[in-house]
Parts: sequence; structure tokens; C-alpha cells
Amino acid sequence: MIPFLSLKDITAKYASEIHEAVLRVVDSGWYLLGKEIGSFETNYANYIGTKYCIGVANGLDALTLIFRAYKELGVLKDGDEVIVPANTYIASILAITENNLVPVLVEPRFETLEIDDELIESKITVRTKAIMIVHLYGRCAYTEKIGELCKKYNLKLVEDNAQAHGCRFAEKRTGSIGDAAGHSFYPGKNLGALGDAGAVTTNDEVLVQTIRSLANYGSSKKYVFEYCGRNSRLDEIQAAVLNVKLKYLEEDNKLRQKVAAYYYDNIKNPNIKFPLRLPDTSNVYHLFPVFCKRRDDLQKYLTEQTVQTIIHYPIPPHKQNCYKEWNEISLPITDKIAREELSLPISPVMSDDDVYRIVSVLNDVI
Ligand SMILES: *Cc1c(COP(=O)(O)O)cnc(C)c1O
Repeated sequence: MIPFLSLKDITAKYASEIHEAVLRVVDSGWYLLGKEIGSFETNYANYIGTKYCIGVANGLDALTLIFRAYKELGVLKDGDEVIVPANTYIASILAITENNLVPVLVEPRFETLEIDDELIESKITVRTKAIMIVHLYGRCAYTEKIGELCKKYNLKLVEDNAQAHGCRFAEKRTGSIGDAAGHSFYPGKNLGALGDAGAVTTNDEVLVQTIRSLANYGSSKKYVFEYCGRNSRLDEIQAAVLNVKLKYLEEDNKLRQKVAAYYYDNIKNPNIKFPLRLPDTSNVYHLFPVFCKRRDDLQKYLTEQTVQTIIHYPIPPHKQNCYKEWNEISLPITDKIAREELSLPISPVMSDDDVYRIVSVLNDVI
């Protein structure tokens, strides 16, 4: 079987450094809020190009804490609307609804898979206070038009950068473009921990203080509680692992780009379509989505040929039971993506032979 993603191989590539880093923490006797998280926050902020980075427990917490902090700061209040792409992973939407804010689902462009910036302005109302862009599949979702709309309507721009560590818009990295960004280091992401981990990046010092307090039970002074906060920490072992893997992120993203280039240049099957090809600066290929009208048959065939694939995502948020009130909304592009998308294996540890074989299997199928 060619696996969709071998986490085992990804870890094995840096095994000796990772083992050393983990053991260093184990032997130190210090497991939370120590040196490793301090250095990871500095390293990651430098990498992304923001003044601050706050390590938190996971990507959903990162996004949820950003909105919660804006509420505590009076920037947002219950019932305010947040524009968000309709085809995103559920976590982006949960971060909004958990805060009693209202997601306004906007269709993506089928060609780019990212939020259609031409559709945003007509969705802006007096209650709209923020836009959340999601750099889905590793592709940059930011456009100058989105920046202009944020200025024109005085909206906060929040980035969900869970899938695009290292991606750029011009000189800036995604995660440094908006007012704040949430990152996930779930093991399968481009920069993955060996468990759950996440971070917020921003240049806003007041936001940082508020998020740090909210993530620490609502306290910035021992035993004094300003907010009804929560506990959301990125632990020392995960931070130590991330400090190792961050050094190789650029190199690993280049290897993903190499696989992607081979797919783009060599898959010639007319029944298989690609999203618009972006320059490598704007796509770090967290996933490699293709489209096929007979997607389920294609997936079945690939499985028979021992190629594992995954659909991102088979049921969009508006069709989920947890958001029953949206089940009847018409979002045809989002539905089409859910019907036709199939993600091919892509990772920094795929062998050339596996890539060649996937291409030849795809070119043979009718
Ligand atoms: C993975 C992911 C998240 C959530 O991250 P976790 O660390 O799993 O909580 C949020 N948004 C997107 C787009 C993701 O892919």
C-alpha cells in the first residue's frame, strides 16, 4: 500500500534529533511553560514574521482564543458576523460559533478552492466585524481585494493557517498578513508535533496579553483571575519536537513542491482536473487535491491499486447535523468540491517510485 501519509516515516527522518529533544525534556523535570516553549515561540514568530507567537494546546484553541480575546477587548460582541469560506474544515467554523458569533458562509472559487473575494462585499452587513480566511490545502487565500475590504469596512482579518505553514503572499508569510492567525501543529500538518499543539501569531501586544491570560485560566497574575478562562498550553515535549522540525520545514515544503510539480506535469488523464497551479511561493501543498466527476469510482480503483487517498472534505459544514439550521442553504461550489475532490498522497518522505506509480495508475484509468 502507498499510504496517504506515513507519520512514522516523517518522524523517522529526524529520529535522532527528536529522540534527543524529547529525552532532554524528560530528564529536565520541567514539563510545562519552560525553556522549550519559550524558544519555540521566538523561533516560530521569527519564521512567520510576527512580533509575537503564543503556543496553545491545538489549532482549534488558537482560533477560538483569538475570537474570545477580541470579545473580551470589546472588539466583538455576541451576534457579530464573521465571514468565512463555506468549504473550510469544521474547526474554523467552531471557533466562531463557540464564541456566540455568527459565521457567514461564502463560497470558494472552484479554480482556486479559496474564498471567492468577489462574493465577500455583498455579504457584509452592519454586524460584520471580521473576515476569517483559511489557507486551505496549503494555498494562500489572501488577496489584495480582501485587504481593501477589511480597510474599507474596518474588519479584523483572522487567518486560519493550520494548513499552510511556510506559505507566502509576496514577501509575507501567511500567518503574518492579518491581525491574528491560528496555527495547528496536529501531527499530519506541514509542521507537525507528536500529538496536539497549536499557536497564535500576531503583532498586537494587547491581544497577546489577553490570549495569554485566557489560556491560563483567565489569569496573568498568580491566583488573580480577570476572566473565566481556560487551560490551553503547548507542552515542553511538543515544543522541543517542534523546535527540531521547524528547522527543516522549508526543506520539507520544497520536497512537497517537487512531488506536486511531478503530478501537475505528468498526470494527463482528461477526467482528472487540477485546481489552478500557483507558484511555489504561494502553495506549500499540505494536500494535493484533484477533481473527478466519478470521484468515488476513482477512489475505489486507486484503493484496489494500493494507493490510499482521502477526501477533503466529504460533508461540508453546512450539511452537518451540528449546523442543522444551515442544511438547506444553497452553496453549489462547496457541494461540488465535496462531491468531486480527492486528495492524492503527498509528503516530504514519499519515494520517487511511489510518485511515478501513482501517476501511471492515474494515467491508465479511464
Ligand atoms: C487542522 C485544522 C484545524 C484544527 O487544528 P487542530 O490542531 O486539529 O485543533 C483548524 N483549521 C483547519 C483548516 C485545519 O486543517
